[in-house]
Amino acid sequence: MIRLLSKRKVFFRVLLFFLPFFVFGVVTDLIAEALLCASVSLLLWHYNHLFRLADWLWLRKTYVTPTGRGVWEGVYDGIYRLQKKNRKKRNQLARLIRRFRQGAEALPDGVIVLKNDFTIIWCNKLSRVFFGLKWPEDNQQNLRNLLRYPEFNTYTQQENYSQPLLIYSPMNAEQVLEVRIMPYAEDQLLLIARDVTQLKQLEQMRRDFVANVSHELRTPLTVLSGYLEMFGDAAPSDDIWPKAHRMMEEQSKRMDTLINQLLVLSRIESGKRHSFEEKVNVPEMLHLIHSEAEALNKEYHHQLEFHIDDGLEVYGTADELRSAFSNLIFNAIYYTPEQGLVHVYWEMQGEEACFYVKDNGDGISTEHIHRLTERFYRVDRARSRSTGGSGLGLSIVKHVLSRHQSSLQIESQVGHGSCFRFALPEGLVVKEKEEQAFIAE
Ligand code: ADP
Repeated sequence: MIRLLSKRKVFFRVLLFFLPFFVFGVVTDLIAEALLCASVSLLLWHYNHLFRLADWLWLRKTYVTPTGRGVWEGVYDGIYRLQKKNRKKRNQLARLIRRFRQGAEALPDGVIVLKNDFTIIWCNKLSRVFFGLKWPEDNQQNLRNLLRYPEFNTYTQQENYSQPLLIYSPMNAEQVLEVRIMPYAEDQLLLIARDVTQLKQLEQMRRDFVANVSHELRTPLTVLSGYLEMFGDAAPSDDIWPKAHRMMEEQSKRMDTLINQLLVLSRIESGKRHSFEEKVNVPEMLHLIHSEAEALNKEYHHQLEFHIDDGLEVYGTADELRSAFSNLIFNAIYYTPEQGLVHVYWEMQGEEACFYVKDNGDGISTEHIHRLTERFYRVDRARSRSTGGSGLGLSIVKHVLSRHQSSLQIESQVGHGSCFRFALPEGLVVKEKEEQAFIAE
């Protein structure tokens, strides 16, 4: 450890340095010359150290200071310590910035740090994806010039950031971004962009849903109130009454079906997650649906065949599965022209329990298939109405299946027919019967 020299020590050292020169001056009677010589030597020694210091400060890349003696030892050591302290502080700061950046990178939002004039200081990875920014090329660029959105420019010029701004991502026209700007520090802004596409879609779906429900309910209500108005107080005449009665009955049935399906849908959606402890006797359920289907089939005269594995039970919710099976079976009957073929299967395929309904009806063209499970979606509105369909059946099936770890697969060919299929995973198949049979053997 280097100790700083005290003033007294320095004074004595200088005296000690001059003493031999002084003695030599006295002996030779050249005191002034001897002292001058001592002073010049001392000056040269100091200049030598000064040059070494300047050389190290400006030219050397090493942190190790030159070695010195006397007062210079303390100076060099002081500078070395100061540098070490600064380096430590700089590392701490760098670590802090790195941690802040890692945090900002982990955010599920796009983050851009800007100067007040919208010059980019830093941006995270997600904001580069959202806005197509390049890093570090776009460092110090003005965000307004890069984005070129008139609404963004107007928004930023107003300097009122209390409400967020919604814009479409320049990289993906379907992605909606919610942009928020927050002033911070003295002259900086923090821009946070969040992907709200799904939220917007849900909002749109909710709006469409309410509009569709209102529309679907208004039609039968118009028919009913039209007839009631026509009759007024008087009893309807005999020639109008049979038609009016039939129409009113049909329309109230439609309303009843629609409301029932809406209730089923909302019950399924709001129902809690399954624990899958309830055993469902699917074969028994399908035999019951079979007899209902036969009654319905009296109008259509299809060749209706059920191929059921009587030992195949599953875990699930009976009401929900019944609704899925019957929707698919009745659809096949409704949408197959008279005297068609409708085959229903319930069997093991590999480790899964498979259900599928095949018909040789009109089939569905490809562009409709991926939309069939949307609420109120119907390929042919008029046709679906004549069958009493509301367009909610397949949407119920989709929800039921997703709650049973499965999904609906639809294969169809126009003019050849359709096949609606789903498979319940191995974990939902009841295996007890097989085990009992095995033990009995
Ligand atoms: P709906 O109550 O109108 O039957 P769904 O959601 O059950 O509503 O079905 C949606 C649409 O899918 C139907 O309107 C119909 O156009 C079509 N569809 C369903 N099943 C079949 C099928 N087996 N064959 C042909 N089209 C079908």
